[in-house]
Amino acid sequence: MKVYKGIGVSPGIAIGKVYVYSHKYVNARPEKISSVKAELKKFEAALKTSKRQIKKLSAKISRHLKKEDSKIIAIQMHFLEDEVFVEKVTRAINGGKSAVESVREVLQEYEEMLLKSEDEYFKDRSLDIKDVGYRIISNILGIKNELEFIDKDVILVANDLTPSDTALLDKSKVLGIVTDSGGLTSHTAILARALGIPAIIGLKDFSLNVREGDEVIIDSENATVILNPDDTTKAYYLGKKQEYEDRKKEILALKDIKAITRDGVSVTIDANIGAPEEVTKAIEYGAEGIGLFRTEFLYINRFELPSEEEQFEAYSYVVKAMKGKPVVIRTFDIGGDKDFPYLGLKKESNPYLGMRGLRFSLANIPMFITQLKAILRASAYGPVSILFPMVSDVKEVIKSKDILQQVKDELIQERRDFDKDVKIGIMIEVPSTALTVENFIGIADFFSIGTNDLTQYTLAVDRSNENVADYYIPLHPSVIKLIGMVQEVAKKNGKKLSLCGELAAFKEGIPVLLKQGIRVYSMSPASIPEVKKYIREITLEGKNIPDGFHQGEVDGGL
Ligand code: PEP
Ligand code: MG
Repeated sequence: MKVYKGIGVSPGIAIGKVYVYSHKYVNARPEKISSVKAELKKFEAALKTSKRQIKKLSAKISRHLKKEDSKIIAIQMHFLEDEVFVEKVTRAINGGKSAVESVREVLQEYEEMLLKSEDEYFKDRSLDIKDVGYRIISNILGIKNELEFIDKDVILVANDLTPSDTALLDKSKVLGIVTDSGGLTSHTAILARALGIPAIIGLKDFSLNVREGDEVIIDSENATVILNPDDTTKAYYLGKKQEYEDRKKEILALKDIKAITRDGVSVTIDANIGAPEEVTKAIEYGAEGIGLFRTEFLYINRFELPSEEEQFEAYSYVVKAMKGKPVVIRTFDIGGDKDFPYLGLKKESNPYLGMRGLRFSLANIPMFITQLKAILRASAYGPVSILFPMVSDVKEVIKSKDILQQVKDELIQERRDFDKDVKIGIMIEVPSTALTVENFIGIADFFSIGTNDLTQYTLAVDRSNENVADYYIPLHPSVIKLIGMVQEVAKKNGKKLSLCGELAAFKEGIPVLLKQGIRVYSMSPASIPEVKKYIREITLEGKNIPDGFHQGEVDGGL
């Protein structure tokens, strides 16, 4: 038995067998060949396995995912059966190259040919080719650990999980998550909280110390991971797990109560979601609205951009499900830790300070227009607002609003229904924007404070780097000061203000934020009942006072 300490990012206790995930196969180098015959055999076997996997994936996808994805799967299958491809690889192997090298070479040839095409559709197909290529190569190398094929309950252990890794993962099979990298507000942390999966991250080299089949206990409250526990420890944690689950049920029963402090300050609690399906969780946990729909996750783990129609379906699904409750849709926040291989983006040495959020949208206007059009169309089905991420300059907002106006004009011409008065908000997550927020009063209808980024940019601490996790302090006086400044300007000018960073659900943070005047919070759905309960137990000063002192509903701020 060995005990490891990390950062507990999603509450709960999980006990289970380990599944170690790595990205080895993507970077696999061609190796020396044994004999032509052996290499040919490896290639044939890998083709067969790939076909079997794609068939399995296709069955899974047709049950759970969209038409577009099924189409991509069909294209990949077609490629695996393509005689010309098989012939070319066979010829390369016969010429003395290894199976891996031969597949890589032929794929590159196909990719280059497709990329040269004038037709966008064919250009996009190069990504399918790349994907199917990785699959064949990983099968030649005998590496099978692919997240999409986890078929029993496991504790997922990885060096890191990218957003694309987690998108295809069958989340119902994951009891807990442990990663070597990551910080409190990294993508893995947010995702684990959204799904209510216990998670501990930042364990440095844990993934190198475990093997498939090892048993692990995750105790998020104590930020502890226990490897191969003895019987006494396991029995103790089984009891603790049951206690935790009973408490969770009790709290869930409180989901529909209003969040009012003991001295009568009423607070609105909205949900953050990253996929249309998460709206079900938001409703289930008592969200009063969707305060943040992170749309960039629609762009992940695909081989091409989602069409306007597909986006419209996703956005309107959420709007309809919320039945008249407000939905804030954030335009894509691409960049930072969210990588999209098919966009062919250049690697940046400082991605958090680079082409991210609204900057990216303004550099990719056709993509931006498609998204704005889809969001506007969804606004015909209920109250929708649009939120721009990573705003760092007034000019960006003005330009974005001009583009939005063009899109509105187009929709009018097309006689499409939409909310002509759709409200526009900006994320306050860059310190310079917080410091000059009065400059945005005339151009934004509302503000949403993103403390995840505001903290990293104010303190110069990478939010997903476990080595500097101790420096990442969302309640640092400088961050709180900035929040207070934004609140003051918003209040003075009658602007709506909310806070949607992870700090919104941290117990230590809530009293501080209440005191700063924040009255609207948006958080992962699973946190909502507990936060409501907590707010009802405290006063505006964060003090606990005995039961029976609860005053009526008095609105304490904006
Ligand atoms: C934030 O930065 O606080 C935020 C809510 O946005 P994201 O976590 O998606 O960067
Ligand atoms: Mg952010």
